[in-house]
Amino acid sequence: MNYVIIGNGPAGVIAAETLRKCDPHGGITLIGDEPEPPYSRMAIPYLLIGDIQEAGTYLRKGANHFKNLKIELLVARAEKVDSKNKKVFLNNGKTVSYGKLLIASGSRPISPPINGINLPGIYPCWTLEDSRHIMKLAKKGARVLQMGAGFIGCIILEALASRGVELTVVEMGNRMVPRMMTEAAGGLIKKWCEKKGVKVFTSTKVESIEKSTDRINPLKVNLSNGKSMVVGLVISATGVRPNIEFLKDSGVVTETGIKVDETMQTSVPGVYAAGDVAQAKEFYTGAQLVNAIQPNAADQARIAALNMAGKDAASQGAMAINVLNTLGLISSSFGQWMGVAGGEHAELLDAENYRYLHLEFKDDILVGATSLGLTQHVGVIRGLIQGKIRLEQWKDRLLKDPTRIMDAYLARTQGTNFKLAA
Ligand SMILES: Cc1cc2nc3c(=O)[nH]c(=O)nc-3n(C[C@H](O)[C@H](O)[C@H](O)COP(=O)(O)OP(=O)(O)OC[C@H]3O[C@@H](n4cnc5c(N)ncnc54)[C@H](O)[C@@H]3O)c2cc1C
Repeated sequence: MNYVIIGNGPAGVIAAETLRKCDPHGGITLIGDEPEPPYSRMAIPYLLIGDIQEAGTYLRKGANHFKNLKIELLVARAEKVDSKNKKVFLNNGKTVSYGKLLIASGSRPISPPINGINLPGIYPCWTLEDSRHIMKLAKKGARVLQMGAGFIGCIILEALASRGVELTVVEMGNRMVPRMMTEAAGGLIKKWCEKKGVKVFTSTKVESIEKSTDRINPLKVNLSNGKSMVVGLVISATGVRPNIEFLKDSGVVTETGIKVDETMQTSVPGVYAAGDVAQAKEFYTGAQLVNAIQPNAADQARIAALNMAGKDAASQGAMAINVLNTLGLISSSFGQWMGVAGGEHAELLDAENYRYLHLEFKDDILVGATSLGLTQHVGVIRGLIQGKIRLEQWKDRLLKDPTRIMDAYLARTQGTNFKLAA
C-alpha cells in the first residue's frame, strides 16, 4: 500500500510511524509546507523562554530517523486533492499518487480584521519562523502588546513575561481564557497576572494599529476603552482556523474542520483526517467538533493510521482537557466545564489563596470541572469524567464539599470505605 500524509506536525509524524509499524513494506510519504524538520508548536514557548534551542522543538531528534524508517519527507504545499484518481497536486508542479491518504494539515492563526494588522512588528506565535521574529523584538524591557488571552495566548504570555518584557494583554472576552474557564476562575487568573506585573485589559478590543513616531516603539495600538499604547511588538493570538481550503472540489466534506467518523475516515473512503484539522466526535455530547490540542492530535493520528493499515480502532470521542500554567498559577478545565442542561454544580472559591474548584454533574455523573491552584485532583477528575463513573451518594457529598473528589474517586472505583462527611 502507498500511504500519503499531508502535514508533518505531531499528527502526521505519529501516523507515519504507526503506519510503518503496521506495514513494514508500504510506501509512506509525509508532506509538509514549512521549510523545517517536523517540529512541535508546543515547544515554541520553551524556545522563547530560552530553555531549549530550535533543535529542541524537533519532534524526532535523530538526523536519520525518517530515512531509517523509510518515510519519505517532502517539503511542498498540497494545493489540490483529486480523490477520484487518488492524486495530490503540489505547489512545485509535482503530483503524488496514493492508495490511502491522511490529511493532518493542522490549523493556522486567524488574522483579525483590524486596520494596520499587516504593519511590520505584528506577528502570530504559531511557527518557528514567527518565534525567530518575536525573539528579535521581545528583548528585556521591550514594550509588547498581546491580543488575545485564550489557551494558547496564556501559554505565550507566560513565555513573553519570562523574557522580561513590559507586557500588556488585551482580551475581548470578559475574562481571561473565556473558552476554558468559568468567570470566577478567569477573573482570578487576571488578578494573578496583574499581581505579577502584566497589564491586562478584558472586555476590550484592539480597534486599530498605526505607525508611531517613536523609533524604538514604532506601533501605536488603539483600544476600544479609549486608551492607546505605543509598543515595539504586537503578538496576535486571536484564535486559529483549520487548513481545509485545498480540499475544495475534492469530495471530502468539511464544516468547521474535516468531518470524520470514529475511525477518523472522512466522507471519502480511504481518505482520513486527524489533529487540529479534524472535526471529530466529542466524548460527552457526540457532536462533531474541532478540539485543537496536541494529545488529541496524537490519539486521532494513531487511530487513523491503524485503520489505514487495515486494523480496527475507534475513537471514544475527544474530551477537552486543558491544563495551563500562567506565571506559576496552574489552572485546568475538563469536558463540559460550562455545565449541561438540567445539571447541577458545586463550587469552592478561595480568592485570597487563588484556589478554586468547580464541578459539573448530570445526574450522579461528573461531566466537567474547572480548577485553579489545585493540581492533585487532575488525574482523578479525568478518570471520573472519562469513566462516566456513577457517584451515587458521593454526588451529594461533593455538592457540599467538592474538595472530597479524591475520596469519591477511591470509594467509587476501588471500594474504599470513607467515613461520611458530617
Ligand atoms: C505556542 C503554542 C503552544 C501550544 N501549546 C500547547 C499545549 O501546551 N498543549 C496542547 O495540547 N497544545 C498546544 N498547542 C497546540 C498544538 O501545537 C496543536 O494542537 C498541534 O500542533 C496539532 O498538531 P497537528 O499535527 O494537527 O497540526 P500542526 O502541528 O499545525 O501541523 C500541521 C502541519 O501541516 C502543514 N500544512 C498545512 N497545510 C498544508 C498543505 N496544504 N500542504 C502541506 N503541509 C501543510 C502545516 O504548515 C504544519 O506544519 C500549542 C500551539 C502553539 C502555537
